[in-house]
Amino acid sequence: MQRSNRIITIAAVCAASVFTAMNVAFRIPEHTKVILYCFSAAAIIAALVVILCIRHFHKERILRDRENIMRIMQSLNAMAVLWDSDFHYVEVNAELTKSIGYTSEDLYDIKTLRKVLPPDAFAPSLQAVVNSRDEEFTVTAKGGAKVSTIWNTSLISSFESKRRSSCLMLSIGLDISETVRMKEELIKYAKDLAESENRYTLSMDLSEIGLLLKEPGRSSYYISDQLMNMLGLNVSEISEGVFRARFHPSDVMTFNALQAAMVNTHSGADAGTIHSTEFRLLSSDNTYHWYQFRYKVIPAETKILSNIGGAIIDVTKDKEKDLLIEKMAYIDDVTQIYNRNKFMQIGQETFECSRDADLSYWVIVLDIDNFHIVNDTCGYLNGNKLLAQFGKIVESSVTSGGFGARIGGDNFALLIHDTGDDELPVRIIRKIQDEIKDLGAGSFAVQTITCSAGYCKMSDGGNDFAQILDHAEFSLSMSDGIKNDIIRYDNNIHDKIIAGTALENELAAAIENNEMVLYYQPKINLSDGSLMGMEALIRWIKPDGTIVPPNQFIPVAENSMLITKISSFVLYEACRQNKEWQDKGFPPITVSINLTAVDFYQTDVKESIQNALNETGLDAKWLDVELTESLALKDIDHAIQQMKEIKELGVKLSMDDFGTGYSSLSYIQVLPITLLKLDRSFIMYLEEDEISREIVSAVIRIAKSKKIETIAEGIETIGQAEILKKSGCDHAQGYFFGKPMPADRFEEFMAEKMSVKTNIISAETENA
Ligand code: C2E
Ligand code: MG
Ligand code: MG
Repeated sequence: MQRSNRIITIAAVCAASVFTAMNVAFRIPEHTKVILYCFSAAAIIAALVVILCIRHFHKERILRDRENIMRIMQSLNAMAVLWDSDFHYVEVNAELTKSIGYTSEDLYDIKTLRKVLPPDAFAPSLQAVVNSRDEEFTVTAKGGAKVSTIWNTSLISSFESKRRSSCLMLSIGLDISETVRMKEELIKYAKDLAESENRYTLSMDLSEIGLLLKEPGRSSYYISDQLMNMLGLNVSEISEGVFRARFHPSDVMTFNALQAAMVNTHSGADAGTIHSTEFRLLSSDNTYHWYQFRYKVIPAETKILSNIGGAIIDVTKDKEKDLLIEKMAYIDDVTQIYNRNKFMQIGQETFECSRDADLSYWVIVLDIDNFHIVNDTCGYLNGNKLLAQFGKIVESSVTSGGFGARIGGDNFALLIHDTGDDELPVRIIRKIQDEIKDLGAGSFAVQTITCSAGYCKMSDGGNDFAQILDHAEFSLSMSDGIKNDIIRYDNNIHDKIIAGTALENELAAAIENNEMVLYYQPKINLSDGSLMGMEALIRWIKPDGTIVPPNQFIPVAENSMLITKISSFVLYEACRQNKEWQDKGFPPITVSINLTAVDFYQTDVKESIQNALNETGLDAKWLDVELTESLALKDIDHAIQQMKEIKELGVKLSMDDFGTGYSSLSYIQVLPITLLKLDRSFIMYLEEDEISREIVSAVIRIAKSKKIETIAEGIETIGQAEILKKSGCDHAQGYFFGKPMPADRFEEFMAEKMSVKTNIISAETENA
């Protein structure tokens, strides 16, 4: 029942009792007094009883309430304390006893309580405590251990009297020691992390290490702040295209390989393996810096595919040192571009990489047509200048991802990334041919410089790069003297290589089997038609009687060194035969032999000639050695030295095939030759072509002024012979006078010549 209701009820009962007592007392006047006294006494007793009852019920109610609260407290998983503000009453639940070891009895003692609670727990006003929510403080458990707690306190009831006022409160607390520990650990960890991150960033900054990361399935690269600084970028993500554009043109190939490797490596097959590569990137100072990139697969914890990435370090300074060393080994002195060694090295790496990454390349080999003429006419220094300029043109023709080098004498090579356009190599070669043409016309006072090229596709076959380069070089060798020729390697060429090898084997056997025979062609003195000499020309006569002309096997012999065997046979046989004819009583004449550049550079020619002369007994003056320009131009000093030594023996020296290529008289002058052989190509159109006639007579005139005799070869008509004679040419050789013939036929020819002593030219001229 509500307090107000109770008061109304008691008031009503009292009012009813007073009314009844007054009514009875005034009805019986004689007892009015007694009745009122009795009523008053009864009323006082009743009032006392009521008060006592009320107090009793109130106490009971409080106890009941406390018991209910205690029951609830015991069932809580949290610590709970029921307490009054005087600490006359403190009751704790089992959870609290479990956590801090104290029972309700322990805590009745205010001293114990002060030990348990932190000092400032007493400081706030009661109101503040009552209003407190989520109050955190550390309590001291029975054994002295500190327990972190958080408390919420609620006012259950308050009590006020004249003497004192008190409240009953319920505080519910949670043991948050674990949370606090974790929080502290987190703070410490965060602090450590920040410190280590600072240290890491500092070390990255100091050591200038950038980070480059590629996530699977993303075409862009993540770059660290340091790398952004190094490259002068302001974004931390860089697209494949932008990254590629930063690569040095010569290193784009490395980028392609890296890109392919990074895509392949995402599979995580070689997780843990550290890969390393080097390349140049356009950097913040707008120059190319060398970087080393050490990367590996970084297994992702949450993703299926791994990231791939690693440290990128500026190694420009180290590279500069390396480059100096490399320069010595890999840079060509004359052109300052890479040499053959480097080309082979990069080529082999590219070859292996292209197979793995499914990339394709073109290999182009270039040869300056008749380069020797520049050396001959303008000197070695100017020749070197031309090579250097050619080197620049080659280097500037390298397309993105390619490579250029000088691979020998006047040979250059290019490695070009195949973009799927089959016309690309031809376009590049044509552009180079165009540029070199201007070079020739500008800086060198000679005819237009041209160059020929052979090329092949890397993926068209070959076991290694050396074989691929062989293919390109072989196609170049097929150009056969045509200027500005461009030949692509194909299977037909391959067949020719095979055939060449077969021919080589056959030729080697033929030399062993004495299938080589010398034919002799007469050389006539134009002034009187007398026989002045003969040229020994080799023939390969197979057992079945087939005659193989020298043009078909001499080039093969030259490539395989079989030429030295052929040449020593020719040298000995020509001397022996000439001496035999002299011994037979034929008027002594000169025998000419042909030597190649290989003979001239690979063997001691002087010694071989001396031996042949000694063994056969032929006098040196009856031997003439025919050389071609290319032989003398390979190394002019060496050539001149060798020629001088041969000349000292008393042997004659002739310059064969004069007029092919870029022959120059000023150059001929420095060589110790006695005879100039005008090539057949000069003679062929003499009768119809005025210009040919003028050139031939000018050459003869100049040669004479230099005290060099002239002989024309390939004379087939009397008209040609007459023109040459009129022009002052000393000697002649050609079908008109006699074809090359075997020794027995030549002997007959000589015998005939001795008996008929006619001067063909004079006679014919007179008749004309
Ligand atoms: P070569 O030294 O210029 O020899 C002249 C070539 O012209 C010979 O061809 C000869 O047969 C040919 N010839 C001469 N007169 C005429 C003519 O009136 N008309 C035509 N159409 N051709 C004529 P052959 O014998 O086939 O020799 C070709 C080349 O092979 C020679 O050119 C020479 O370079 C080389 N050779 C020949 N024998 C030897 C040799 O023993 N050793 C070396 N190393 N090379 C040789
Ligand atoms: Mg000759
Ligand atoms: Mg010739």
